[in-house]
Amino acid sequence: MKHAKIFDMEAKYYSQVFSRLPVALAKGKGAYVWDVDGRRYLDFYAGIAVTSLGHSHPKAVAALKKQGELLWHASNWYYSVPQIELAKLLCGLSGMERVFFTNDGSEANECAIKLARKATGKKGIIAFKNSFHGRTMGSLSLTWTEKYRKPFEPLVPGMKFVEYNDVRALEKAITPDTAAVIVEPIQGEAGVIIPDPGYLKELREVTEEKGVLLILDECQTGFGRTGELFAFQEEGIAPDILCLAKALGNGFPIGATLWRGMDFERGQHGGTYIGSPLACAVAKACVETIVKEKLAKNAKKQGRYLLEKIESLGLTARGKGLMIGFDVKDGRKTVEGLISEGVLCIYSENTVRVLPPLNIERKHADEFIKSLERII
Ligand code: PMP
Repeated sequence: MKHAKIFDMEAKYYSQVFSRLPVALAKGKGAYVWDVDGRRYLDFYAGIAVTSLGHSHPKAVAALKKQGELLWHASNWYYSVPQIELAKLLCGLSGMERVFFTNDGSEANECAIKLARKATGKKGIIAFKNSFHGRTMGSLSLTWTEKYRKPFEPLVPGMKFVEYNDVRALEKAITPDTAAVIVEPIQGEAGVIIPDPGYLKELREVTEEKGVLLILDECQTGFGRTGELFAFQEEGIAPDILCLAKALGNGFPIGATLWRGMDFERGQHGGTYIGSPLACAVAKACVETIVKEKLAKNAKKQGRYLLEKIESLGLTARGKGLMIGFDVKDGRKTVEGLISEGVLCIYSENTVRVLPPLNIERKHADEFIKSLERII
């Protein structure tokens, strides 16, 4: 099907809720994707920090095929080996004790909200200005942006927002009814906002002191994106609850909530599809590959190089690992310019977000920089 027909059909049949960019994708291999007309693009957004191994990674494809021929679905009435193996792997890598699988990041945060309330018997959860935690009613209640929230009020009560990167503001906001604080180690959707070094550590100290749970939303930062397997490991802290998604399945829908020192009681949470053998087998292969191929380390190295090169073009940029943002006059126009050069990125307002696969090489970074140079 050609672009014009796809655009027409989408306009006619699909909810007009998305501000889509004008490319229909048909296939991908590594750091490249091809549109329906066969034009090739360098993929520097990775499906919003999802396809960290690139497209059609042989290890992920092999796991999908193998499990696809064995068993897709079991529900949680019964045990399955991939689910338990992935649970053990994630607990081992993160230092957490238990896991609950979900279908995406919003659901991982829903689970965290329920667990925090259940474990503490308190209602309040504190999030931060400019945060993004998802679109479901609970996770939306912890998401800052007014236009996402307003039409859907009343949201879940008991949530409030305080200034990011300001531990004193948080300290003041904690009350006897505060169950938890939820934070992104780097605010992704807000345009790659990086707090000061030591901020997470201080957050951990304050929450511990006040007997409040710390929920880290690493849906976007997790699995090597920032140059560490998990961003919290850089500051030597441990959260009480850790939310993961995106790169976990490299595009196969799966998220996870992990925790220590508490649990649900039987029957308090669930879901038909969560932790399916198919999702877990694929995710296990993806996570093992990220670890084995030391992709966090590569993210750090390539990220440093990319950031330097972007800055050398005179742009204001910031980033950690391969989670990079740079400011422009008009994010959408710049991204459209990049598309015309054969590069895919995304934007938040006036920030272009650069989120390539974690296994890119120097030549991919150089290709990106050359394209960027031509359009700015
Ligand atoms: N948390 C964070 C930090 C995110 O970046 C996102 C998605 N951008 C989510 C939660 C929601 O994840 P999902 O879209 O998979 O529900």
